[in-house]
Amino acid sequence: MLKTNAFDASAGDALSAEKRDMIERRRRLLGPAYQLFYKDPLHLVRGEGVWVFDAEGNRYLDVYNNVPSVGHCHPHVLDALTRQAGELNTHTRYLHDNVLDFAEKLIDTMPDALSQVMFTCTGSEANDLALRITEDYTGGTGVIVTDYSYHGMTKSIAALSASMGPYVKLAGDARAVPAPVHDPANPAAVGQRFAADVRAAIADMQRHGIKPAALLIDTFFTSDGGFFDPPGFLQEAVEAIREAGGLYIADEVQPGYGRSGEHMWGFQRHGLVPDLVTLGKPMGNGHPMAATVVKPHILERFGNESSYFNTFGGNTVSAAVGLAVLEVIEQENLLPSIQQAGRVIVDGIGALAPRFPAIGSVRGVGLYASVEFVTPNGEPDPEMALAVVNGLRDEGILIGASGPHSNILKIRPPLVFKAEHSQMLVEGIERVLSRL
Ligand code: PMP
Repeated sequence: MLKTNAFDASAGDALSAEKRDMIERRRRLLGPAYQLFYKDPLHLVRGEGVWVFDAEGNRYLDVYNNVPSVGHCHPHVLDALTRQAGELNTHTRYLHDNVLDFAEKLIDTMPDALSQVMFTCTGSEANDLALRITEDYTGGTGVIVTDYSYHGMTKSIAALSASMGPYVKLAGDARAVPAPVHDPANPAAVGQRFAADVRAAIADMQRHGIKPAALLIDTFFTSDGGFFDPPGFLQEAVEAIREAGGLYIADEVQPGYGRSGEHMWGFQRHGLVPDLVTLGKPMGNGHPMAATVVKPHILERFGNESSYFNTFGGNTVSAAVGLAVLEVIEQENLLPSIQQAGRVIVDGIGALAPRFPAIGSVRGVGLYASVEFVTPNGEPDPEMALAVVNGLRDEGILIGASGPHSNILKIRPPLVFKAEHSQMLVEGIERVLSRL
């Protein structure tokens, strides 16, 4: 995986003695695989709503973080967590209302056909479980992903995460297809091209004796750089995998939980009902929770033949937390404000583009937006994206970059981000670009 905005230890001499000590402790204790963000890494100590605070008391607007979905330290979620933790925490092998109440409320947000849910702790595990169920149901092993996909860290799922780079080999039976393109001039072609690539991947599998099992897609293509339009463009590709006997797995770890502001789930933008849906990050507002939602007939044999137990998945405290998060989304009526705040971001940054030619495509839906940076001859410009990410940090705004060239600003703040916060972001970007 490209290490976007990674801290470079060789350039760390200018840091305070305290930070240098912490960085050295991390390296010694956690080994070399962990990455820190920023030239001057942040030492965060507290969060509240859309804000985080560092050890020196500086406040930062969190535009990066889709995990604290209803805001850092939301009091309703905190209350549910602490009350249940003080009463009982146990696993799913005893009867308890929490896991049922949560499952019911979650399934109520899904299309009718998706009516059973299994709980895990991470999105990686949710995808891993979805893959096992899919292979069992279809008898196939061939999975189609996009060529800068990210679906998680288990052995089987890292092998379906093309963005991990050449050191992590793509599964032999998998095929990586080009991500869709953003083509507002020719929207009808977006889905046709993507479906043609999926069909070619299916044909290639079949030529090599591989039975297609699934199309595994992050509905908003977030690691690929964010592709949302036109609504419905995924339909033809999904038809193609189903015609070949495979299933459609919607990875909703990023777009789920109302990020689009239009619907609760990203696949609804495409008018689709997936065969399996995997969920993660925003479910627990920071508490580690994830799930696989599935059509009952697909789960039937796997569920009967292979028992499933996940020590922490669906535990009593997690279920209380999960329920509380759904209650907040409902009670605070977040979907309309997500749309409103998102429009301010896309319109505001779009309006800067004529003054700053480094801004390429600006696109998004709800509180997920992508801003491409390009060189004067239209090539991806990762240096500019990195300069903006670091410049915004100096403005007290935390943000990341994505895409195969790391030249695309990835805007995905907590879902309680309001229009006034979007305005702060737009003005911050304007100041940074004026300085650069
Ligand atoms: N799928 C997608 C689309 C993701 O973005 C991620 C995490 N970034 C995962 C799966 C894996 O989730 P986790 O880190 O909880 O295992």
